[in-house]
Amino acid sequence: MTNTVNARPATSAPGSSRQPRIAVIGGSLTGPVAALLLLHAGFDHVAVYDAAPATANLGGGLIGLEHAALDVLDRLGISQDEFVAHDSETIWQIPIRDRREAAGRRQVYPGRNTTWTLLHTALARRLPAGLLHTSHRLTGLDATTGQPTLHFTNGHVAAHDLVVFADGRSSTGRRLLDPDRALRYAGYVAHRGHAHTPAPALRDFLRLEPGPGCQYNVAPVLGGLDWTLYLNASPAEYADRFGAPPTRRLFALPQHVSPAARAHVDARAEQLLPAEHAVTVHTTTTRMAVPVMDIDPPTRMVWPLGGGHAVLLGDALAPVRPHTARGANNGIEQAAGLIAALTQHRKYRADLDAALHGWQRRHLPAAIAAVHRGPAIGARLGLGDTAPGAVR
Ligand SMILES: Cc1cc2nc3c(=O)[nH]c(=O)nc-3n(C[C@H](O)[C@H](O)[C@H](O)COP(=O)(O)OP(=O)(O)OC[C@H]3O[C@@H](n4cnc5c(N)ncnc54)[C@H](O)[C@@H]3O)c2cc1C
Repeated sequence: MTNTVNARPATSAPGSSRQPRIAVIGGSLTGPVAALLLLHAGFDHVAVYDAAPATANLGGGLIGLEHAALDVLDRLGISQDEFVAHDSETIWQIPIRDRREAAGRRQVYPGRNTTWTLLHTALARRLPAGLLHTSHRLTGLDATTGQPTLHFTNGHVAAHDLVVFADGRSSTGRRLLDPDRALRYAGYVAHRGHAHTPAPALRDFLRLEPGPGCQYNVAPVLGGLDWTLYLNASPAEYADRFGAPPTRRLFALPQHVSPAARAHVDARAEQLLPAEHAVTVHTTTTRMAVPVMDIDPPTRMVWPLGGGHAVLLGDALAPVRPHTARGANNGIEQAAGLIAALTQHRKYRADLDAALHGWQRRHLPAAIAAVHRGPAIGARLGLGDTAPGAVR
């Protein structure tokens, strides 16, 4: 990227009737929500770019969405029937002692559970044909044309007035705009699986806590059970089990899960979990893993660039630990706030700089709070480098 990021932008002409050209980088969850909200608000010149060859099913698991995010989807006309397969609001937090369940504590979750697959499908099918440009991996951003200009590995170059980075936790946008905020491995792994064994009795989300260094979450999803087993692992152990260090392999897909990784997870499940849950783990053929990462909290979300702006949102802005259950929520809420600010600018001639900074002021504190909450939860569970007496 050329060093134009910090240049003052030309102030956008108040009330200019020209439709801004808006690029959204990332076609997973945050990106499509932003794009659909833009279209609903009457922005016509929107393009979504994604590095993946097609809107491939990345096989992502359970995601809890709170009411604010659910309401955004509702306003987009996406009925919950489409992406909520089980409507329980109950979370059971259950201590495990000697592989037996102790008395659990019931919590009511202010939201509903979906899965990445259901939600992504519901969003992707609403994107008008031609809006999403797959196989477009962004590598560069400058202001050579006077406006934010995107460069892709396939040679495509495009100028826009606003670039919305929703390109996830390994965000190229964050690397270019906010290069000092690199990801750090937190010292433990979220091992994930989708078991095709329906458990008809299970309606709720279970959070099993066998003691320091382990947490097991399981909930019903369409066609089976989704589980996540958190276990500590050194960077070398991660590399041995998944073929690359955690900072390089941010998602271990099924093909990266070695027999050693499988055996390790099976053995820990056998040691720590009640028999029925150990069986669920053992019988799961398709597995994945996500190294838990930390990052310094963000200090800004908006960058002037040439005569336009670039913004970071979702995991691109602040990838947070999964226990916080805030990643997708943050992305959706930030997208809604951004489009509200842009609408005030376009419809009522609000000053664009002020509108974007107002958006940042409203959403930055929640992102920072979620970044801080992750290590606190990890420490309570004895998970991660900073947990007292972390158990491997
Ligand atoms: C175990 C686990 C449980 C979770 N539970 C919850 C939960 O309960 N609630 C919750 O809110 N969140 C939860 N999350 C987090 C949630 O899954 C993420 O925050 C969310 O998926 C992020 O969405 P995103 O669209 O911002 O980024 P991503 O889903 O990472 O998408 C980024 C997109 O950008 C594209 N891309 C990347 N780089 C480029 C590039 N250079 N050029 C073009 N395209 C690019 C990618 O192909 C991808 O499609 C959980 C995560 C995990 C691992």
